[in-house]
Amino acid sequence: MMGAERKFKLAMYWAASCGGCEISVLNIGERLLEVDAAFDVVFWPVAFDFKYSDLRAYPDGYIDLCLFNGAIVNSENEEIAHLLRQKSKLLVAFGSCASAGGIPALANLTTRSAIFQTVYLNNPSIDNPDQVLPEPTYSAQEGELQIPTFYPTVKKLEQVVEIDYVIPGCPPETDQIWQVLQSVISILQNGTPLPPKGAVLGAMDTAVCKECVLEKHEKQIARFYRPYEIIPEPGLCLLEQGLVCLGPATRGGCGALCPKVGIGCRGCYGPLDGVDDQGARILAALSSVISAGDPKEEEQEIERKIDAAIGTLVDPAGAFYRFGMAGSLLIRARNGGSR
Ligand code: SF4
Repeated sequence: MMGAERKFKLAMYWAASCGGCEISVLNIGERLLEVDAAFDVVFWPVAFDFKYSDLRAYPDGYIDLCLFNGAIVNSENEEIAHLLRQKSKLLVAFGSCASAGGIPALANLTTRSAIFQTVYLNNPSIDNPDQVLPEPTYSAQEGELQIPTFYPTVKKLEQVVEIDYVIPGCPPETDQIWQVLQSVISILQNGTPLPPKGAVLGAMDTAVCKECVLEKHEKQIARFYRPYEIIPEPGLCLLEQGLVCLGPATRGGCGALCPKVGIGCRGCYGPLDGVDDQGARILAALSSVISAGDPKEEEQEIERKIDAAIGTLVDPAGAFYRFGMAGSLLIRARNGGSR
């Protein structure tokens, strides 16, 4: 066990996300004892009985390290992001939702009112005869209740507060989390310089393809398949077989776990350094491998074949921006002014 002279203060928070990030931290198993030796947990509402009033009472900068997971979907998420920024020396966007919007930011492909219609009115499992929709205030017998306001556009953490680091992944891989925690503990204990602000921790600076063990050849894709449509040939690059795989445009560090089990990389570790838009990068990568037929063929025929291949790509926006919509150049689909 590490001998910590002074215990540092650790916080974890869960905004708009599924909770997988928190489970991934718990999955470090008995190594949690080393985390416990180095840190006092001062705020982790999902695991301990902490209240927002506890957080508000801390002095500014009281928390040494805060791992913030989840996107910013409503006013409560944003309020706590500001509070945690104020109270934390190091604020880390932890996981895909905090670092890029994640699955919640797919809401940016539609509008808030369309989401409310689906969730509260047209959902087959809902019983809502009075067509009640969430309102930010509600008058009850006991007084006026306030609930968080649902934003029209989902944001990543960095779009509402300054962050220090990013740990990507949906969720971040447990071994990577442990490596980052070990280095942070050692940095805090020894006073050694921190990585540059904004650095991506616990991931590689090369693409998933680099760590993928599947055999790769020159790609010529005549059509794309959804995962249920074919059984991929084992050991062979999935993209070559027409299965959409974001490996060429995604930061490695996960061990290429999805391709290893026959599922195309979903892109959860985000774009590589210097890439502003992961979706645009994968679109460019896919365009370069679409089979356009014989160059001697008529231009119109080549165009037809390219269109036919692209026509088999189902839900390109959802596939290419599955985790990075909020962090992309698009941020959201145009909605003609409706919210
Ligand atoms: Fe790259 Fe995906 Fe092919 Fe693996 S399966 S080599 S990650 S494109």
